[in-house]
Amino acid sequence: MDVISISRRNLELPNWPQYDDSEKVALLRALEQSGWWRFGGQEVSEFEKEFAEYHGARNALAVTSGTHALELALQVIGVGPGSEVIVPAFTFISSSQAVQRLGAVAVPVDVDPDTYNIDVRAAEAAVTEKTRAIMPVHMAGLLADLDALAKLSADASVPLVHDAAHAQGAEWRGTPLGELSTIAAYSFQNGKLMTAGEGGAVTFSDSHEYETAFLRHSCGRPPTDRVYQHKMSGSNFRMNEFSASVLRAQLARLGGQIDVREQRWPVLSGLLAGIPGVLPQGTDDRCTRNPHYMAMFRVPGITVEQRRQVVDELISHGIPAFVAFRAIYRTDAFWEMAAPTTDLDTIAARCPNVEAITGDCIWLHHRTLLGTEEQMTAVAEIVADVVAKVVVS
Ligand SMILES: *Cc1c(COP(=O)(O)O)cnc(C)c1O
Repeated sequence: MDVISISRRNLELPNWPQYDDSEKVALLRALEQSGWWRFGGQEVSEFEKEFAEYHGARNALAVTSGTHALELALQVIGVGPGSEVIVPAFTFISSSQAVQRLGAVAVPVDVDPDTYNIDVRAAEAAVTEKTRAIMPVHMAGLLADLDALAKLSADASVPLVHDAAHAQGAEWRGTPLGELSTIAAYSFQNGKLMTAGEGGAVTFSDSHEYETAFLRHSCGRPPTDRVYQHKMSGSNFRMNEFSASVLRAQLARLGGQIDVREQRWPVLSGLLAGIPGVLPQGTDDRCTRNPHYMAMFRVPGITVEQRRQVVDELISHGIPAFVAFRAIYRTDAFWEMAAPTTDLDTIAARCPNVEAITGDCIWLHHRTLLGTEEQMTAVAEIVADVVAKVVVS
């Protein structure tokens, strides 16, 4: 297949974000209320109910971002100075930054080379008497091994705080994450599976933790406070009414979009697996619903320069391609505050899979998987041609 002829064919994958009249109606509904913050209208509280119900959680709390959602979730379970939180080293930096912003140490561990999710044995080996939480990150919507994590959490008496920024709607053995988890944090940033440009949410199974989170996300004030009680230290992480109104429309569309992506990923990953040198992200049959935030694949042996070239060429063909995250311990941010006493080389030596994946992994935005089946074939053909041209030649 000739790359030039494909680019002429113009791939035209679906855009992201998507909206229709339901977002327009929702925004006007929010506009015409008596106020635009959560205490002046119904949108945030209605969205929280709908989001909690969709995820099988008791409560949901809407916040300003996924990063703030993680910070709040960690704070609620008592993470602070002197504590450690175990995080996979292959993740977006917010997973560790949320820990460090609270003055706690983020302890990076290795991931599985096939699923890219936290290696539960590595997490187990990293538990110390200071460990206050273990944070699985459900990479690209594929739930980490929740059976093994539940056992580790129980054995070590350490709670799980789920970074579910990629995992709206995910299910394990037919059960939604909100029902299986005590605390999970979600993101609604522009590229995520549902979005209002920015935003986040935390789901809870325990109403006391939810109430604590509510106070902390609103400067320590109860919902009806008019006398400046400030019962707890906190910050202002409140979501506004406009964002919540849009997210209600986005949530209503999420299930149908997941259905499409669930049909497309087996097709695309099957085609990618047939390309010499390309290894798509693996699956886990126990993750019975995967919302597919990203279509990820590895090209083992690719150099940094070649990977950049592959990504640039994919973009020039209309494919939303990106290089995978950097290892969290290979950023300046990681060492700026609440850094571990371990040095970089020691951490890197413990994370051989993260070292490999961060060097050879490429991901495609989930709007790719909202395309038609024919578009999946075209995407795979372009990937095959570009990889052959850049890597093999
Ligand atoms: C996007 C993301 C976050 C942070 O969410 P924001 O809403 O951008 O703050 C956290 N963790 C992971 C894994 C993410 O991809």
